[in-house]
Amino acid sequence: METVADCIFCKIVAGEIPADIVATSTGAIAFRDINPKAPVHCLVIPTEHYENVAELAAADPEVLAELVGLAEGVAMMAADTPGGESFRLIFNNGAEAGQAVFHVHGHVLAGEKLGWNPA
Ligand code: AMP
Repeated sequence: METVADCIFCKIVAGEIPADIVATSTGAIAFRDINPKAPVHCLVIPTEHYENVAELAAADPEVLAELVGLAEGVAMMAADTPGGESFRLIFNNGAEAGQAVFHVHGHVLAGEKLGWNPA
């Protein structure tokens, strides 16, 4: 599996640093964001390292679809909250768009009626 030695999310995949993992699939995992911006705020990431969502889409669209499926599953865990089954899935793509960790991740926000609340 391709990893990047100093990538914090690769270290989470490898179990080298802790994370609150809430769901897994063949090529992806979901875990809680350490700085949540909504009652449910998880990150969905591929287990292999791709820098951003455009790179992932070009290289492995099936895994990108897995991320969307995991995001829906995470949101369903909050289906009995005021947010119902609604969720927002955000990919910050590039530093000027707010991307700080360069292992592609989707922010899953749910659990309340969402206003404009960029991740
Ligand atoms: P972005 O700005 O889109 O790159 O988002 C990076 C996200 O990763 C932020 O929301 C951080 O709170 C989150 N984050 C950084 N380190 C960790 C970690 N060790 N465990 C969980 N979430 C993290």
